[in-house]
Amino acid sequence: MSTETLFTKIINREIPADIIYEDETTLAFKDINPQAPFHVLIIPKKAIATINDINSENSHLVGNLYEVAAKLAKQFNFSEDGYRVVMNCNKHGGQTVYHIHLHMLAGKEMGWPPY
Ligand code: IMP
Repeated sequence: MSTETLFTKIINREIPADIIYEDETTLAFKDINPQAPFHVLIIPKKAIATINDINSENSHLVGNLYEVAAKLAKQFNFSEDGYRVVMNCNKHGGQTVYHIHLHMLAGKEMGWPPY
């Protein structure tokens, strides 16, 4: 089964995206349909389809996503006010792109629960 999604195309610069961060393992770009004043998707460059596919071999890549979130929070001054990071899994979680991504939402006070 192919693990290619549109995020692979963004990583390979085959489709445009507003990329705000990149390093060896991780990419962050603005969500095309923002749900907060700041809404960025932080993704591993290696495709992992869902949270169910995280294991001891690739979990360091997931840790890197959180590390980048902390860096961006500092860079964009959200550390103190706070922000939300969310990863959706499969249908009930609301996942639509099968390449794991951390949603980072900031710039307003959010409610809970999220439904
Ligand atoms: P999910 O529903 O958790 O899988 O999130 C997928 C996210 O990808 C949604 O928030 C979409 O708005 C976003 N998205 C879909 N296509 C693009 C794109 O081409 N560029 C940036 N974000 C996208």
